[in-house]
Parts: sequence; C-alpha cells; structure tokens
Amino acid sequence: MSKIVIVGGGVVGLFTAWYLRKSGADVVVVDRGDFTDGCSFGNAGLLVPSHVVPLASPGMLKKGLANLFRPASAVAARIAPDADLIQWYLKFTGSATTKHVKDSIPVLKDLSMFSKSLYTELKESGDLDFPLWDKGLLMLYKSEKVGAELLEEAEIAREAGLKVDELSTAQIQQLEPDTLPQVSGGVHYHSDAHLNPSALMAALVAALKRDGVSVISHCKVEKIQSSGAKAIAIETEKGTFEFDQLVVSAGIWSQQILKQLKIKVAVQPGKGYSFKVKANSPIYYPALLSDANVAVTPLGNGLTQFGGGMELGYNGYKINQVRVQQIIKAVGEFYPTEQGMQISQDQIWQGHRPCSFDGLPYIGKAPGYSNVFVGTGHSMMGVTLAPATGKLLSELMWGEKTSLEMNPFRINR
Ligand SMILES: Cc1cc2nc3c(=O)[nH]c(=O)nc-3n(C[C@H](O)[C@H](O)[C@H](O)COP(=O)(O)OP(=O)(O)OC[C@H]3O[C@@H](n4cnc5c(N)ncnc54)[C@H](O)[C@@H]3O)c2cc1C
Repeated sequence: MSKIVIVGGGVVGLFTAWYLRKSGADVVVVDRGDFTDGCSFGNAGLLVPSHVVPLASPGMLKKGLANLFRPASAVAARIAPDADLIQWYLKFTGSATTKHVKDSIPVLKDLSMFSKSLYTELKESGDLDFPLWDKGLLMLYKSEKVGAELLEEAEIAREAGLKVDELSTAQIQQLEPDTLPQVSGGVHYHSDAHLNPSALMAALVAALKRDGVSVISHCKVEKIQSSGAKAIAIETEKGTFEFDQLVVSAGIWSQQILKQLKIKVAVQPGKGYSFKVKANSPIYYPALLSDANVAVTPLGNGLTQFGGGMELGYNGYKINQVRVQQIIKAVGEFYPTEQGMQISQDQIWQGHRPCSFDGLPYIGKAPGYSNVFVGTGHSMMGVTLAPATGKLLSELMWGEKTSLEMNPFRINR
C-alpha cells in the first residue's frame, strides 16, 4: 500500500485524502492548525458551476484597475515591492484575454459539474453526512449596469449548457416572500447548490478518522527533504514523516512550501470576510448581491451567513472594518428587513482565498519530481472544486486514466 502524506487539511487536502483512502492508500494529513478554522470553514459554501468566467478576464482587469483608485470598493489590490506579487500581476494581466476566457469556460464548467456530481453521489451514499441544499443560486442586481453584465454572463453560461432563468422583481419576491428583496431583477442558476462549509469540514475530518486516515493537527511543516527527483520526508514540529508520495494542498501557503523544492506556482491571497446572524426574517435562497459582491447563504434553523470582500495580495489578519460595513450596508439595501444589523467583532470571520493568476486551479504532478503532487489555487471556488480535485489527484497518483483532461491545470504554467 502506497504511503501518502498530504500537507494542508483545508477542503482540498481533505477531499484528496478521501479519494486516496477510498482507493486503498495509507494516508496522513498534517495541518499547522486544528481543523476548525481557515479559508475552508467560513466561506460562503456556494457550489458555483455558474462561475464559468475565470477571474483572469478583460472585465476583471478593467474593474481591478478602476478599483485601485476607489478604496471603498468591494475589491482591493495591494501594491508593494514584493517579487511574488509583481510576478502574479504580470501573469494575471497576460492571461486576462478574451481567448483565455473562451478556452477556460468549458474547462471550468466541466470541472465544477464533475465536482457537483461527486457531492451529490457522496450525499446520496450516506458515507459522508453533511447538509447540502440543491436550490440553485440567485444573482440579484439593483443597478441597470450590473444587470446588463449579469445578463451577458447568463447568456455565456446558457451557451455553455447551464440552465439559467432571468427573474423579474416580482418573481424574486415570490421566492423570498418574507424579506421582499428590493432589486431590479436577477438570474437564477439552477446548476448551483450550497452547503454549510464548517459542517462539511467537521464531517470530513470525522469520516477520514473513521476510515483510518491519520489526521494530525498543530503540525506545521518546516522542511521537505528530497533526493534527486524524489521528495522523501517532511520535517514538522511533531517529528519527521517519510512517504512514497507527497501532496501539497496548503492554500495560500503552498507557494512558500513548494519553493523549497524549486517548484513554482503563482498564488496570491484574496482576503474576504463573513459573519453568521439570525436573520430578522427567513431568507430561503442563497444569493449573490452582485452590485456589492456580497454572498448570502441560508444555513438552516434561521441562521444566515453574509460574506464578501476581495483584498488581493493581503495575507495579514487585520480586519478591515470598511469592508465589513460594506457587507452590512449592502444586505440592508437588498433585504430591507435586515437593515441596521449589529455585528460584534468576534462574529467576524476572515479567510484567504488561494488565487491563481489565471483563475484555474493547479492540479497535477510537480515538474522535476516523480512523487510530488499539487492541489491549490482554487481562488473563489475551492469548496466547489475540492471533490473533483481530490478525485483527479487520486486517479493521477494511481496512474489511472483521469476523468478529465488535466493539461489546463498543469503546474508549470
Ligand atoms: C469570504 C470567502 C467566501 C468564499 N466563498 C466560497 C464559495 O461560496 N464557494 C467556493 O467554492 N469557494 C469559496 N471561497 C473559496 C474557498 O474558501 C477556498 O478556495 C478554499 O477554502 C481553499 O481551500 P484549500 O484547501 O486550498 O486551502 P485552505 O482552506 O486555506 O487550507 C490550507 C491548509 O493548509 C494548512 N497549512 C498551511 N501551511 C502549512 C504548513 N506549513 N504545514 C502544515 N499545514 C499548513 C493551513 O493551516 C490550512 O488549513 C470563499 C473564500 C472566502 C475567503
């Protein structure tokens, strides 16, 4: 039986452990945290095949540049003399082309639909017990300009084969009769779904332990030992672990870890915030409040999570209150019943999306090594894409034919 060590127990690392273990590997997952916090826990939990347009697009490039001069916008980008950050911006700018968008749409769609089918299969099997709601996703808008952009994206998604309906204000209010959203219109993506991310993570950790995976917390990897074209062991604060194969799935920290092996990936943090509240009136559908880039996730029992903000290149833990207030303001504007929400500091969660330069994840074997594999850079779609990533890595590592073509996700790009 092959012995595999996975560095990083976020949603990508845990799903990789899941599929490797199911196919018979002896798996150890090490994480520097305790599996209760991090990017995979407080995210919006939306499964978004709707997001077929990659982050690196001419539209995002234009928005990003405009927002550099608007500190109060939902998106911010750090400017600093940091070689990795500069390299990322250069690569991002080079990829934000119409051709890249056109090529990436079927790739992202196939990857996310494959992942969604794995979520459905897992849920139906009862092997992994987690809450999953299959109600699609509402993308709501107030301004006509944002509405026009949403309808354009909806058309692209439709052409890619997704089921999308345009909704009037009255139709949206029928779906949300208790909050009566004040919107100009919206789009309903039936392809999408949502889950409770922290419940998913707790279920994964418990099921992996049940199935014999060694899940080790407070175990920061300090060094990777290698010999020629092979990595052979990791040195951690809990000792040295040898392995046959290594997976690095350490979110925004993957870049630094892989540098030890001279493996390059271009990943920058995209920091965001969320908080959970008992809403004044029930909200039934997950939604994106598109004018403000705010995500709304109903979690059951009257609990709703609101989140947003995208601070590119910021890896610190300081909470930007302006960003949090923007989320609160947008929620009140879209859902009048929720105006004037009071949030305490300890309700605010923050996480760092591992953003690849071209909006596609890195999934594959590392160049120059026979036994090092990488799963990172999933940006704003890590929860959506984690099962597919785990399954594909497992197939690759066992030398099987992969369910999807892997070239778009190669590490040396
Ligand atoms: C506000 C917000 C909303 C989001 N909403 C959605 C959404 O609706 N849908 C969606 O699909 N995605 C969403 N995302 C993105 C998603 O959360 C991420 O893409 C995903 O969690 C990344 O998972 P990961 O496993 O790659 O990284 P992480 O979850 O960051 O896991 C990496 C792990 O590596 C560990 N690690 C790091 N360094 C070391 C080391 N040296 N040794 C050992 N362990 C180490 C860390 O402790 C961490 O646990 C959102 C993100 C944010 C911030």
